[in-house]
Amino acid sequence: MSINILHDGDASLDALSNRTIAVIGFGAQGRAQALCLRDSGANVIVGVRPGKSFDAATQEGFRTMSVAEAAAAADHIHILLPDEMHGPVYESQIKPSMKPGKTLSFSHGFSIVFGEIVPPEGCDVLMVAPKGPGTEVRKRFVEGFGVPGLIAVERNASGKAKDVALAMAKAEGLTRAGVLECTMKQETYEDLFGEQNVLCGGMVDLMKYGFETLIEAGYPPEMAYFECVHEVKLIMDLIYEGGIQKMNAVISNTAEWGEYVNGPRIITPDVKARMKESLKDIETGKFAKAWIAEARAGAPNLKAKREALGQHPVEITGAKIRSLFEQK
Ligand code: NDP
Ligand code: MG
Repeated sequence: MSINILHDGDASLDALSNRTIAVIGFGAQGRAQALCLRDSGANVIVGVRPGKSFDAATQEGFRTMSVAEAAAAADHIHILLPDEMHGPVYESQIKPSMKPGKTLSFSHGFSIVFGEIVPPEGCDVLMVAPKGPGTEVRKRFVEGFGVPGLIAVERNASGKAKDVALAMAKAEGLTRAGVLECTMKQETYEDLFGEQNVLCGGMVDLMKYGFETLIEAGYPPEMAYFECVHEVKLIMDLIYEGGIQKMNAVISNTAEWGEYVNGPRIITPDVKARMKESLKDIETGKFAKAWIAEARAGAPNLKAKREALGQHPVEITGAKIRSLFEQK
C-alpha cells in the first residue's frame, strides 16, 4: 500500500478564509493548535467549560465561551476534548447546532470510528492529527517548521473537505514537515495499537520487568533505574536520528552482540501473537467499548492503577534519581 505525502505547496490557506473555527478544548492540543491557527490568519474562537482551560484561553486573548455557544457561533467545529468525553459533550452541547454546511474535525478518529459521534448528513467530517504532543506542535511552529501530521476525510459533503483538512494542516505547520493522507480507521487503529503495544504499554512493562529483575536479585535500585529506564531515552534518541543500525554503530560490539542473541529470547514470537490479538480487540471495537464503559463509570480502575504505579519502586527510585542528578 503506497501513501501520499503532502507539503506546503499542496495546500492553500484559502479554504479557511471567511470561516470561524471553534476550537473545543484548550488542553495540550487545543492550546497549541488554536495558537498556530490564529497565527496563520484563521478566525479562531475557543469553547471550554469554566475553569483552568477557560482562563488560559482568555489570557491568550481568544474569544472564549461555553462549548454550546462556540459550536453555535462557528462554521467549523474542531473537537480537541479527551476522546472519552467527545460523545457526551457532543450530544449535549454541539449536536443542537450542527447544521448542513458545518465542518466537524478532530485530531484523532476515535469518537467517529467507534460511533461515539454520529454527525448529521450534509456536514464535512475530517481529521487533522499532528504526530506529536501539543508542546512540540507549538514549539516547532514558532521555530518556523512543524511536526509531521496525518489528514483524513471521513465525509466530503461540500466537495472541499480535503482542501479544508490541508489548509488546517498548513496553518499548523504540519505541511512544512509533511502530511500523510489516510483514513480515520487507519489512524485510529494504528494509533491505539502503537500506544498499547509498543510506546506506552509494552515499553513500560519491559522497563518495569527489567528493573524488578535486577532489584529482586539484590542489585541497587538506583543502578537498576539507570540501566533499565534512564538509558532508554539515550538509545531511542539514536534510533530516532538514524535508525537501529545507527544505534548499533554507537553502542559497543558487546552490547550489539547481546542485542542479537538475547533480544529474541526475551521478545519471543508469542509476544507477536498477543499483539495480533490486541490488534483484533482494537479493530472489533472491543477495547474501545470497555474503555468507554470504564470512563463513564468515573474511571475507577484507571485511578486505582495510576495510584498503584505511584507506589512502584521504579517510580519512587526514579523521582529520587531525577532530583539527585538534575542540573542545579
Ligand atoms: P487534554 O486532556 O490535554 O485537554 C482536554 C481539554 O478538554 C481541556 O481543555 C479540558 O478542559 C477540556 N475538557 C475536558 N472535559 C471537558 C468537558 N466535559 N467540557 C468542556 N471541556 C472539557 O487533551 P489532549 O489535548 O491531549 O487531546 C485532545 C484531542 O487531541 C484528543 O482527541 C486526542 O486524541 C488528540 N491528540 C492528542 C495528542 C497528544 O499528544 N496529547 C496528539 C494528537 C492528537 P478543563 O481544563 O476544563 O478540564
Ligand atoms: Mg499516537
